[in-house]
Amino acid sequence: MDGGRRTSGAPRVGVLALQGDVREHAAVLAALGAQVVLVRSPAQLAAVDGLVLPGGESSVIDKLARSFGLRRPIVDRLSAGMPALGTCAGLILLADRILDGLPTQQSFGGLDVDVRRNAFGSQVDSFEALLDAPAMGEAPLHATFIRAPAVERVGASVEVLASVGDRVVAVEQGALLGTAFHPEVDGELRFHRRFLAHVARVTSV
Ligand code: GLN
Repeated sequence: MDGGRRTSGAPRVGVLALQGDVREHAAVLAALGAQVVLVRSPAQLAAVDGLVLPGGESSVIDKLARSFGLRRPIVDRLSAGMPALGTCAGLILLADRILDGLPTQQSFGGLDVDVRRNAFGSQVDSFEALLDAPAMGEAPLHATFIRAPAVERVGASVEVLASVGDRVVAVEQGALLGTAFHPEVDGELRFHRRFLAHVARVTSV
């Protein structure tokens, strides 16, 4: 480890490893050739060029990020343009505004969207769907939703990548990607590839 940012070779990316499905994301990123750092400290965050925010419980990840001293550094890196991919709870954490959050729950922000937690209702705990997402290629996305959020407002510079009926479930804004579902559990590699392409772009300038 050289401790600094890499400018060539395998991209060095982090998975925020406070709670949630960290291992699944780390496995996908490693399979795509990335060097993966499990991020639990500001120093680990400083050593990566992009960050994946996993699925899990957004209010818990928020709380732990604050107590690990990671909240401010993550917010700062995101506003400085660090690429990020947030899935499910991770999407909630990237949203500028959370609907139906716990009273003290905060997001990191960055994505100009409003995201409603548990938007598909308590009866429908989880479901799978095939979604058209032309921007991601011809094959439909195989998407697994688990107590999933949905995007209810999309800012002008946000691109909608996929929807379920009238609910937006995948978005991109600059180098930030968010999905309400879990590509990491489905062998759906396109979002991680796209994230790594953003990382390659920001590290090559
Ligand atoms: N409902 C969870 C939350 O509010 C998200 C669920 C998930 O990440 N699978 O954070």
